[in-house]
Amino acid sequence: MTEYPAWVCGECAEEAGGRMPEGHLATFHHGRCGVCEKKAAVTELRDFRYPALERLNAVRAKLQNAAPAGNKPEEVLETEYAY
Ligand SMILES: [Zn+2]
Repeated sequence: MTEYPAWVCGECAEEAGGRMPEGHLATFHHGRCGVCEKKAAVTELRDFRYPALERLNAVRAKLQNAAPAGNKPEEVLETEYAY
């Protein structure tokens, strides 16, 4: 990746060091994560204060080296998480 993907799941964002500001309310929707490419609850990287792109790439590389994972089962379409 040379630029930020439109959507990222919370797992990847946090793995890359992204943190939601205290009290921040992000709107997640069901989509495809631009990092792990799984279908998950995703939101904008803005909500995680834009973790470093190199770290997102590192998370992606690590996942791609792991055994190919199946998609998670369909989940809730839209969920709000308060941090
Ligand atoms: Zn992800």
